This record gives sequence, C-alpha cells and structure tokens, in this order.
Amino acid sequence: MKQYSAEDILRIVNEEDVEFIRLQFTDIFGQLKNVAVTRSQIEKVLNNESMIDGSSIEGFTRIHESDQYLRPDLDTFAILPWQPATRKTARLICDVYNPDGTPFVGDPRGALKRVLARAEAMGYQFNVGPEMEFFLFETDEKGLPTSRTADAAGYFDMAPIDHGGNVRREICLMLEEMGFEIEASHHEVAEGQHEIDFRYADALTAADNITTFRMAVKTIAQSHGLHATFMPKPVYGINGSGMHTNMSLFKDGKNIFFDPNGPKQLSKEAYSFIAGILAHVRGMAAITNPLVNSYKRLVPGYEAPCYLAWSASNRSALIRIPAARGSATRVELRCPDPACNPYLAIAACLAAGLDGIEKNLTPPAEITENIFAMSEEERKAHGIDSLPGNLLEAVECLERDPVIVHTLGEHIYHHYVAGKKREWEEYRTRVTDWELKKYMVVY
Ligand code: GLU
Ligand code: MG
Repeated sequence: MKQYSAEDILRIVNEEDVEFIRLQFTDIFGQLKNVAVTRSQIEKVLNNESMIDGSSIEGFTRIHESDQYLRPDLDTFAILPWQPATRKTARLICDVYNPDGTPFVGDPRGALKRVLARAEAMGYQFNVGPEMEFFLFETDEKGLPTSRTADAAGYFDMAPIDHGGNVRREICLMLEEMGFEIEASHHEVAEGQHEIDFRYADALTAADNITTFRMAVKTIAQSHGLHATFMPKPVYGINGSGMHTNMSLFKDGKNIFFDPNGPKQLSKEAYSFIAGILAHVRGMAAITNPLVNSYKRLVPGYEAPCYLAWSASNRSALIRIPAARGSATRVELRCPDPACNPYLAIAACLAAGLDGIEKNLTPPAEITENIFAMSEEERKAHGIDSLPGNLLEAVECLERDPVIVHTLGEHIYHHYVAGKKREWEEYRTRVTDWELKKYMVVY
C-alpha cells in the first residue's frame, strides 16, 4: 500500500484534477457509506473536521448524540477509475470519531483496529488474503436483477462459453489502477459464478480492499448491464459463493506459522491458532456468515464447509492448510462468505486465533477422509461438530461466546444481535413459495 501525507494528497488532487472526494466508512452490517465533498473542502477533510450525522446509520448512535467526525486514513486515498476522467472522484476511507476526540465504539473499522493493537502488543502482524466469489446475473427490462444467466460455463472455462470474461477483465484492470495486485481471475464452478483473488495484505488493508472490491465489482457489472451479487447462495441446487480467508501471523518480518521442524512444517502457534478458530467458529458464524441465506450455502454437496475439522489436504474440511510453506504458510478458513462485514469478520478470526495461542490450545487430530462421506455416527466418533444450521442458532452461539462478544464491543454486539434477530423473525414468519408448492394442494 502507498503511504500519503496530507501534502501528497493536496498535490495529487490538484495535479490529477480531482473534484470530488468521497469520505467512506461502513455501518455495522458492512454496508459501505459515504459523504462526498468537493475539492473546496479538502483542507477541512485533512484536518479531521468533516462531520456527519450518524443517527440514521444502522448501529450508529442514538438521536441525542448523533454528531460524529470522519478522520480519513490518508493511505487509503485512491482515484475511482470508473468515474469520469476529468473532474475526477477520489475516495478516502475514514475512521469514525466522537466530538470529544475518542474513537466511536460503533465503528467496525475501529473494532478491527482494537484487536490488531492487541496482536501488535504480542509482536504480531496479521495478514489476510481473501478469495472473493460472486455471481453475475442478467437484469430485466426495468434494470432490476434477475437470477438468470445465459452463461453455461463451469470451473476455469473460457470464452465464448464464459460470458463474464470481459467484465472480469475490466474489474481487474480498474482495481490494478487503484493499487490492487490481482493474482488470479477465473470462472467458478456454477453457471454465472466468478472468482477474483488479490494479493494478501495486512488485515486492515485487506478489510478495506474487500469493501472496495465489492463496490468495484457491482459498479463495473452494472455498466455492462449485469447485476453482481455477493449473496452467498443465490440459486438453489448449485454452488454458493464463499470468501475463503487465508490468514498468517508475522513476527519481526517472519511468518511464524512456518516451522521447518514442526509436524507438517507448522509451528506450535499455527496449531494453537487453528485450535482457537475451531473453538470459536460457531460463536463467530453470525459475523462470518451474517445472512439467513448464508446457511443455505453451508450444506453438504457444494464445496462449502459444514463440519468443524481441519486438514492439510482435504477441501471438505472447514480449515485447510494450503501446500505452500515458508513465508506463504497460511491457514485457510473456508466458511466466511462475501456478504460479511469484513472488518468484524477479520477481527473475530484474529481474536479466535489469538485466544488459541494465549491459552496454548491444541487442535484435534487432522481429518484426512472425506467428511461428507461419513455417517453422523462416524462424525460423532471422530468428535466432529457442525457449524450452526441457521442464523438464529448462529446468533445464539455468538451470545454464548464471550471472546467474540468482547471483540465486537458492547455497542456493536448489542446492535448487531438485535438486527440479526429482527432479520430472523422477518424470515421465520414469511410463507415461502416452497411451502405453497409443498402443502397447498396436498393439505
Ligand atoms: N464456492 C465454494 C464455496 O462456497 C468454494 C469453491 C472453491 O473451492 O473455490 O465455498
Ligand atoms: Mg473458489
């Protein structure tokens, strides 16, 4: 990532003909928000004097204390390449502060920064590389999204079967203009499904990148008359979209998950980190898999995990250790989905892993067999538990996990759980098409 001073930004704004600056932040459910200012306001922005009224933002403040300040993280300055090429638009990702100068406890970026500070105190830098999957669907005459795609391609297929190649190309080029290093881009298993992977980064940058990525993909798809969705399971009966999350801890510039003399060349810290994730993965599911729809992806048969196990080889496990060693040694968690709030999801993963290290936990034995082929009894015999089966169960697991609750902080926890319970209740009381088809005639 680039490093910018206030002077750099003033200079670039003038040299590059930047007219609008979007000050971005996210609400507790990970929705990207922004207020745009013109260049006439840039000095105020750089002096941390930009004020917003947070009272209408999900999970932000109550009416009587709604004034908040946006403090831009200068290193996130980037020109938005899909905006007009003259009188350009740039963005700055901001931290949210109270009028008294303290960080606002409801800011998800702040929650991630709090856990990162804990890791830093232990000497650790946390690196994260997400694998983002998404669908491209056609829009109807009114421009509204459908769940139709004319694309009949599968894994790694090429054009002309793959209809998304040109859109992916443009996404990659524009993200590179914004400083991303794109490592791979390909058609995924399901019709209309795609994946683009960008290089791992420190956790805060990775979370910022995920929000930028989602905005870029949706915007560029729209300019091609398509609708991009990060909804985890848009179509019944085919693969859903995951956000496999690759994680590693560095100390003094060295990847501490690697130990040439350890079992499978993994260090004690790596094993404890895995054990910590396994201990808290049910408690953090409401964060990593935040929607009613998320749990329709986490079912057997679609390359998504359901059971709590780790493996160095086996893709059916929740946690996989990819083959690379040395500085690329990493733990891949396969349950998160791309609808999550990346700040909170990454914060929860780190807190879980650190808890494993602090408590010196050891994980259960590696599972090398295909877990999906095991019967329930066999899984029981191996001590293999399951991920929560739905959003309500996930919220209840969160309520029982003090490590994850503490990571969110009282404010975010309270608003998040209340919001998710409302979402569940709204879903639970709906009469669905499936029910009508199943019961209307027979009963
Ligand atoms: N789409 C699958 C999922 O839901 C993952 C496929 C893959 O291994 O990349 O996690
Ligand atoms: Mg994939």
